[in-house]
Amino acid sequence: AKYTKKDIIQMVEDDDVEFIRLQFTDIFGALKNVAITASQIEKVLDNGCMFDGSSIEGFARIEESDMYLVPDLNTFEIFPWRPQQGKVARLICDVYKPNGEPFEGDPRYILKKVIKEADAMGYTFNVGPELEFFLFHTDDYGMPTTETHEKGGYFDLGPIDLGENARRDMVLTLEEMGFEIEASHHEVAPAQHEIDFKYTDALHTADNIETFKLVVKSIAKRHGLHASFMPKPVYGVPGSGMHINMSLDDQDGNNIFGDPNDENGLSKEAYYFLAGLLKHAKGLMALTNPLVNSYKRLVPGYEAPVHIAWSSINRSPLIRIPATRGTGRRIELRSPDPAGNPYLVLAACLAAGLEGLKEKKMPMPNVDKNIFEMTAAEKAAESIEELPLNLFDAVKELEADQYICDTLGKHASSKYIEAKYAEWDEYRRQITNWEIDQYLYKI
Ligand code: GLU
Ligand code: MG
Ligand code: MG
Repeated sequence: AKYTKKDIIQMVEDDDVEFIRLQFTDIFGALKNVAITASQIEKVLDNGCMFDGSSIEGFARIEESDMYLVPDLNTFEIFPWRPQQGKVARLICDVYKPNGEPFEGDPRYILKKVIKEADAMGYTFNVGPELEFFLFHTDDYGMPTTETHEKGGYFDLGPIDLGENARRDMVLTLEEMGFEIEASHHEVAPAQHEIDFKYTDALHTADNIETFKLVVKSIAKRHGLHASFMPKPVYGVPGSGMHINMSLDDQDGNNIFGDPNDENGLSKEAYYFLAGLLKHAKGLMALTNPLVNSYKRLVPGYEAPVHIAWSSINRSPLIRIPATRGTGRRIELRSPDPAGNPYLVLAACLAAGLEGLKEKKMPMPNVDKNIFEMTAAEKAAESIEELPLNLFDAVKELEADQYICDTLGKHASSKYIEAKYAEWDEYRRQITNWEIDQYLYKI
């Protein structure tokens, strides 16, 4: 472990920390926190911090509502954008029940459970995410709009890129919080950006994703902009994805996904893992693409996947094998968007891959053609299926995927499925602007 209780207490004192945010994540991926003052830190480190679980979405249990936040000491970090006298720090917490057992609906616990299983098989799951987001203007009341006055595109640079100063600040802040930023750039759509940070083990990556979103949103606000991770905020331009690069290390810390003698540079393990992901491709979607809006990104023409296939040269399929060889050998899942709960997404992806490793089946052959130009018959001949078209179909697929539901556990899977059906039901009653434009006059 990086820090002991004593270290934390010392750091709080030495660094003039006045508030400590105890953070955790609800089952839909929303970051939650309660603040304590420095005077309470010792007590909380010893006993945890009690809170009312019944008020947290997806946590409510009938039997009891008192729950405890137990800080993960290694996650101590100071918020660089808050006052530097009487600083604000955070600790990411695990959620426990009064009887001292972990709460089975805590997303971080669900991920830890699958990580443990991987560990027992001798693997460490490494993940590098690529989060895309938009920086929009706010209105006179400070509320977000979908407007932008910039016309920048892929890899463009200032002065067209109005978000450039904000992005610079985001990168510096993330670095101050221990992130290793590999690259940042303007994405294809106007006002769209991407910042990539270095891969690490799945638990820390999930923590990092939550922290990343908080930092990006907080810094954007300081620049008078609104950062949105909504998957498809603007019609007619690309949406925002969160590609997930995955690999496995063996116990000596060596990446085992590469094989220089294979035509795609992949090892047997990588193929099995890939086969597991493909097998559960549909069942994963309600987690990786959790919103009604997520499915508006997954349409042809915007570098987002529509079909279940994999390729080493093409960007259109669900899974891509990036060209990097050696230690950088990895599988890139391109369906996820940044709206998902990172703990549940990584838990489900790892579980799917582990099942593949156990079953030792080879995946379907790679498809190196442009799938959008293939006829229905050609696609059928190569068993290329489509991803679910909307949230309703995706939730049905999750419900039907007993293995992924078991990975989430009964509590989280039932709460999640119930809430997502309700979300769809609410949406399907809406009369959209598109319908009014299309029908009101003509019909
Ligand atoms: N924005 C694209 C998406 O929706 C991805 C573009 C890229 O390859 O980085 O997934
Ligand atoms: Mg990108
Ligand atoms: Mg990518």
